[in-house]
Amino acid sequence: ELPPLSESDPTASALGYKDDATKVDAAKFPQHKANQVCLNCNFYQGTAARAPCTLFPGKSVNAKGWCSAYAAKP
Ligand code: SF4
Repeated sequence: ELPPLSESDPTASALGYKDDATKVDAAKFPQHKANQVCLNCNFYQGTAARAPCTLFPGKSVNAKGWCSAYAAKP
């Protein structure tokens, strides 16, 4: 399994990535909806509890996470 993406990684931080989508800064990211998590994002590569994300090469993100690059699976 790939090493976990750190919330303090510069790109992760810029995109407001959180391992736990319920911790997303709602003031900064008002577009975040409660049902949006990495697991149902188009960039999430798999269905496991942790998986790679196209935006963060070499890292794994949490299925229950979220960042502002979220795009719903079609
Ligand atoms: Fe999660 Fe999607 Fe952001 Fe990747 S792009 S961290 S899968 S919300």
